[in-house]
Amino acid sequence: MERTFLAVKPDGVQRSLVGEIISRYEAKGFTLVGLKLMQVSRELAEQHYGEHKERPFFPGLVDFITSGPVVAMVWEGKGVVAAARKVIGSTNPLESDPGTIRGDFGVDIGRNIIHGSDAVETAQREIDLWFKSEELAAWEPTLTQWIY
Ligand code: ADP
Ligand code: MG
Repeated sequence: MERTFLAVKPDGVQRSLVGEIISRYEAKGFTLVGLKLMQVSRELAEQHYGEHKERPFFPGLVDFITSGPVVAMVWEGKGVVAAARKVIGSTNPLESDPGTIRGDFGVDIGRNIIHGSDAVETAQREIDLWFKSEELAAWEPTLTQWIY
């Protein structure tokens, strides 16, 4: 089954949006298989956002993501990588549709509340970067026959 990596960024944690965000993915029918609240090291932040290291916003992005606790999660389900990005919305919250997480709760591109992997291969890389295999639970909710 497909998996993705999501992280509630420090602004989402500070604004008490963790429960709201988890609820949206639970209600959609996805399965939570990994969850931890953590302080992110600069090393992890720089690795996670490595593709952006030449961009002007990179130092500020690393400062921000290491500025407070982050809630790192792995979610599982059919088409979860692309679907989770749809639930998140566009990178710039002002361009995100209402009903998306960024569209409902954000206004600034540098404070866009949540990260989500952008492709299946990226998700695998990010899951391996953020979680040890023993931190992930392989389980099947008893109600899956009502989702699939
Ligand atoms: P996404 O998170 O939607 O995948 P990107 O991978 O393009 O977006 O960028 C990673 C993160 O870097 C964004 O979520 C945002 O927090 C930050 N970011 C991107 N572009 C800018 C920008 N122009 N100014 C400030 N921060 C930015
Ligand atoms: Mg991205």
